[in-house]
Amino acid sequence: MRIGIIGGGAAGMMSAALLYEKDHENRIGEIVLFECNTVLGRKLALTGGGRCNVTTGNFDIAEVLKNYPRGANFLKKSIYDFSPKHVFDWFRSHGVKLKVEEDRRVFPVTDNSSDIIDVFLNIYKNPKTKIKKSPVIDMWKEMDRFAVRLHDEIHLFDKVIMATGGGYNTNSGIINYGYAFAQKFGHKITKLAPGLTSLETNDCDIHTLKGITLSNIKLRFLKKDEHVFNGSCVFTHKGLSGPGIFAISSLSAFENYDESDPALLLLDLLPEENFENLKHNLEQTRLNSPAKKISNLISNFIPKSLAEIMLKKLKINDKKSSEVSAKDLNRIIDSIKNFQVVITGRISGSEFVTAGGVDLNEVDAATMESKLVKGLHFAGEILNIDGFTGGYNLQCAWSTAHAAAIGITK
Ligand SMILES: Cc1cc2nc3c(=O)[nH]c(=O)nc-3n(C[C@H](O)[C@H](O)[C@H](O)COP(=O)(O)OP(=O)(O)OC[C@H]3O[C@@H](n4cnc5c(N)ncnc54)[C@H](O)[C@@H]3O)c2cc1C
Repeated sequence: MRIGIIGGGAAGMMSAALLYEKDHENRIGEIVLFECNTVLGRKLALTGGGRCNVTTGNFDIAEVLKNYPRGANFLKKSIYDFSPKHVFDWFRSHGVKLKVEEDRRVFPVTDNSSDIIDVFLNIYKNPKTKIKKSPVIDMWKEMDRFAVRLHDEIHLFDKVIMATGGGYNTNSGIINYGYAFAQKFGHKITKLAPGLTSLETNDCDIHTLKGITLSNIKLRFLKKDEHVFNGSCVFTHKGLSGPGIFAISSLSAFENYDESDPALLLLDLLPEENFENLKHNLEQTRLNSPAKKISNLISNFIPKSLAEIMLKKLKINDKKSSEVSAKDLNRIIDSIKNFQVVITGRISGSEFVTAGGVDLNEVDAATMESKLVKGLHFAGEILNIDGFTGGYNLQCAWSTAHAAAIGITK
């Protein structure tokens, strides 16, 4: 049997490795991995800021699945079969020492993504695996085999794994024909949008908060629908970023908004406190220090510069706290619970994925085989699956690659 894998990113590389390792009955004669870049795993090398957040240290699969805004149900079987724990053990068994950081992200102890890539390159030293650094420019079915065309060659395969990644990677110069090939075989590509982006605001007051981090806040994104996430965020010179914002951007990936028709982000800065508790606490603090300026009083609860911007937006002078009216105190509390940021756009973050892809209804979740074309498998971001930050997207690439490899070798 001859297997072609299109795309030498995370999913394609894992597929090639596992096809070789799991072929216990020696049914595979040759595995050819096609990559249009001059190196394999170019994006993989950049992941996690060059450190490669290879998976999550969250080993509770039900919890893991909550980190996929799209595709969680489909992913269930493959993630049980090749879970974060399996991935952890697999890389360790191939000589990579891994560490789990406080936020449960898993990295090589060396903080170097090349450790991960080297695992694959070592496996490919086997005589069955061939690497072709050339873009696949066309694909079709020829009798019961797949024809894969490069600029100057045509290869025939019994089975093919399509692992060409997502569609929002044009900046990296990647040629992604994957969706077109899938469509040619009759597959539907769902609507595509960037996921895991930072959010932009044109509010200059918000820009002055650059560098301030808010942990454990509740984010509510309002546009056509409401999207809610609890997490952390950081103010940037253009708007907001950080894990909570990336998650909100993924949840709202298909919302349309811009400067002329913005979205609204409401930050509950103290989600543990209800309005009445907060009012009680603020009033107590005010009784204890009536001469204290109101901004100083609020900064017992939230960062000082944010308190100042809040007062500016509420048009409340920064006077002695005892001089602030009950009505204004209520407005301040309301703003702490619902601090408003007008969102005028998305900013491509340092980590982003494509939301949308090959329609999961047309793919077998156990083997990643097309339900329309026998022998055609998919793996990774080309599928309509995307996860939050924290290693969940690479985990999806590993798990779907595993399912495809097992589906082919079983
Ligand atoms: C900057 C950045 C950092 C990230 N960091 C993390 C992280 O730390 N942890 C995490 O979990 N996720 C991270 N992600 C997301 C993660 O990298 C992707 O979800 C994952 O790489 C998807 O793997 P893939 O193999 O499906 O696609 P890709 O990694 O995109 O690989 C697809 C490959 O197919 C090749 N290809 C495409 N078309 C063709 C063709 N016609 N012929 C030949 N080859 C072709 C491409 O060149 C590419 O190498 C990050 C993403 C970015 C952009």
